[in-house]
Amino acid sequence: MSNVSGNLFVIAAPSGAGKSSMIKALLDRHPKGSMQVSVSTTTRAPRPGEVDGVHYHFVSEEAFLQQVEKHDFYEWAKVFDNYYGTSRTVIEDTLASGIDVFLDIDWQGTRQVKAAYPGVHTIFILPPSNEELERRLRERGQDSDEVIAKRMAKAQHEMSHYAEFSYLIVNNDFATSVDNLEHIVMSQRLRRSKQQIRHREILHNLLAEE
Ligand code: 5GP
Repeated sequence: MSNVSGNLFVIAAPSGAGKSSMIKALLDRHPKGSMQVSVSTTTRAPRPGEVDGVHYHFVSEEAFLQQVEKHDFYEWAKVFDNYYGTSRTVIEDTLASGIDVFLDIDWQGTRQVKAAYPGVHTIFILPPSNEELERRLRERGQDSDEVIAKRMAKAQHEMSHYAEFSYLIVNNDFATSVDNLEHIVMSQRLRRSKQQIRHREILHNLLAEE
């Protein structure tokens, strides 16, 4: 357990921008326990391959709304037809134990987090073009033209909020984008206020010679 508190990051993107793969690649580069993605609670049904407690905590609408009443969520939002929320205690406890936390949430949740936690670092990931976004969405599965058109419209809506975020990454070349994400994370870790606590002893020894 570190005595330096973790950094909180929000990473938002339209579906198909490559966000999940970028976060996974970043986590693979760092020791387990130094950074993690928050597991949200949702009322949407699990997709094939999704595991309860790993991808999301899947709950009923009734259970979700009870958690809202108890103020269990750091932020929550209705995204299209389903509710999504971020657990308050998990975020607070994880940051307190020195672990960096990534929130994979939408623009509505980001607004709430910015209000509750002004120190949050907000990152938006964009595809290089609408054509490339559509190509990536088509590559994913056998969705009909109608479903693809709906996803493209959702993407336009999500992207219209990019200016509310502090950092922008255009995911053209995947490896470069992961490097860029890592630079953002590392620059926060290297802030003097954090380093001062992390390297208290070195600083003490360096400056004790007077
Ligand atoms: P999906 O259902 O495709 O996993 O996610 C749909 C959208 O909900 C994505 O934009 C995702 O970032 C957002 N989302 C996932 N979890 C949360 C959450 O806890 N809070 C908010 N506000 N949005 C979330």
